[in-house]
Amino acid sequence: SAKQFGSGQFSFFHGDSHDTAKRTLILENELRRAIEYKQMRVHYQPKIALRDGSFAGMEALVRWNSDRLGPVSPGEFIPLAETTGLIIPLSEQIIELACADFLKYDFATLSPAKISLNISAFHFKHPALYEGLLSIFERMNCSPSHFELELTEGAVMGEGKAIEDLLARLREAGFGLSIDDFGTGYSSLSYLQRFQVDWLKIDRSFVHGIAGKKENRHIVEAIIKMAHSLQMKVVAEGAETHEEVEILAGLGCDRVQGYVFAKPMPPEEIQGYIEELAIVDKGRKLL
Ligand code: C2E
Ligand code: MG
Ligand code: MG
Ligand code: MG
Repeated sequence: SAKQFGSGQFSFFHGDSHDTAKRTLILENELRRAIEYKQMRVHYQPKIALRDGSFAGMEALVRWNSDRLGPVSPGEFIPLAETTGLIIPLSEQIIELACADFLKYDFATLSPAKISLNISAFHFKHPALYEGLLSIFERMNCSPSHFELELTEGAVMGEGKAIEDLLARLREAGFGLSIDDFGTGYSSLSYLQRFQVDWLKIDRSFVHGIAGKKENRHIVEAIIKMAHSLQMKVVAEGAETHEEVEILAGLGCDRVQGYVFAKPMPPEEIQGYIEELAIVDKGRKLL
C-alpha cells in the first residue's frame, strides 16, 4: 500500500484509493470464481402482515462467503457485478437457487405468500430478461406465480411503452411486481398509474427512525395514501423497533419486513420460524 512510502511523502496513489482499486480487482476475480463454482447462497427474510401478525412472504437475498475475502455484502458486490456485466449470470444463478430452495424446502405450502426476487436495473434492461427468466422457471419446474419481482424505480423509469409491455407480460406469466426502495429515486410518479404494480416497498431510510422524525412520518403517510388510492399495497422495509411497527400500523401500512421480526435466515430455518410465529403468536404480540 501507499503507506510504506511514509507519511508526508509524495505517492502516486492516495492510500485509500489504491487499496480500494486493489480490493476491487481481487473482488472481481473472486466474484467470477464464485459464480463459476456456484458458491452463492440465498437467505430469506420474512414479511409480516400488520393486519394479523401472520407470515406474508419473504425476500430472497444473496449471500456470499468468499474463500479469500470472507463474507462480502451484496451492497458491495452487486454494484460491481453490474459494472462488469457479471450481474446477468449471477442473477440467473440466484434465481435458480431460489427455485431449488423452493422445491427442496416445500415453500409451495406457504402459498399464497410469495418469494420476492431482486432484479437489478441492469438485468431488467437486458433484452433477453423475459425469455431468460421464463426459461429458468421452466427448467427448474417452478411456477412464477409463487414469486414476485422487486424492481427499483430506476429500472422501470424511461422508455415508457416498452417497459409497460414488459411488466404486463411478466404479470401475465404470474409474477407479482413490486417497486423496491421506493422514495429514493427521483422519478415522476405518473408511471405508477400506467404500470400495473402490486406493491410499493418503502425504503429503509424513511422507515428506520420514523419514531423520532416527523418528516419521515409525513413522507411514509403520503406514500401509503397515494399507494392505496392507486390500488397498490405497501410494505415497509427495515423496521427495527416495536415503536416503528406501531407507527406503521397506525398509518395503514400493509406489511413490514425488518429486524424487529426477523433477520434474513437460511432456507432450512424458515419453516421453524413460521411455526414459532403461529404457536407463540409472536407476530401479534409484536403489533
Ligand atoms: P434491498 O433489496 O433493499 O434489501 C433489503 C436490505 O435491507 C437487505 O440487505 C436486508 O438484509 C436489509 N434489512 C432488512 N431489514 C433490515 C433492518 O431492520 N435493519 C437493517 N439495518 N437492514 C435491514 P442486504 O441483504 O445486505 O442487501 C442489500 C441490497 O443488495 C439489497 O437491498 C439489494 O439491492 C441487493 N441485493 C441483495 N440480494 C440481491 C439479489 O439476490 N439480487 C440482486 N439483484 N440484488 C440483491
Ligand atoms: Mg429488495
Ligand atoms: Mg429494498
Ligand atoms: Mg433498500
